[in-house]
Amino acid sequence: MCGIVGYVGNKPAREVLIAGLKRLEYRGYDSAGYTLQLPDELVCRKCQGRVSELEAISPGNAASSTVGIAHTRWATHGEPSHRNAHPLSDESGRIFVVHNGIIENYKVLRKELQKAGVHFETDTDSEVLPMLISQEVGKGRNYSLL
Ligand code: GLU
Repeated sequence: MCGIVGYVGNKPAREVLIAGLKRLEYRGYDSAGYTLQLPDELVCRKCQGRVSELEAISPGNAASSTVGIAHTRWATHGEPSHRNAHPLSDESGRIFVVHNGIIENYKVLRKELQKAGVHFETDTDSEVLPMLISQEVGKGRNYSLL
């Protein structure tokens, strides 16, 4: 079963997220990742393997970020791999999603999105989520992104 952690506050988010993922390790997982928000950038780091391996990867200039999401994945759709690890993004890289569970109708959604010209990078069911959100944003809804 996967684990999800999110943080918005005053502390360095990466430390809170990694500590949270470590507390969730007992649930089992095959890969891990996080996305940190900076004023004009989203920084994503992932690995197939342990949270300690994710922790060893430098977040670069995102070490100062105080907003982020993180995930430990238990693969259901698509092999355990760096490519299939969450967070998953839309094509613009402005929307990142972590997801727990299964999207039963993802094949129908994926086909519809592909017909609309969307290109998928992973084999996961979850990737339809950032793509669908991106489409809604593209319709001119009044979202504030970065
Ligand atoms: N179904 C999703 C995947 O395979 C999420 C799995 C999970 O809950 O960790 O990526």
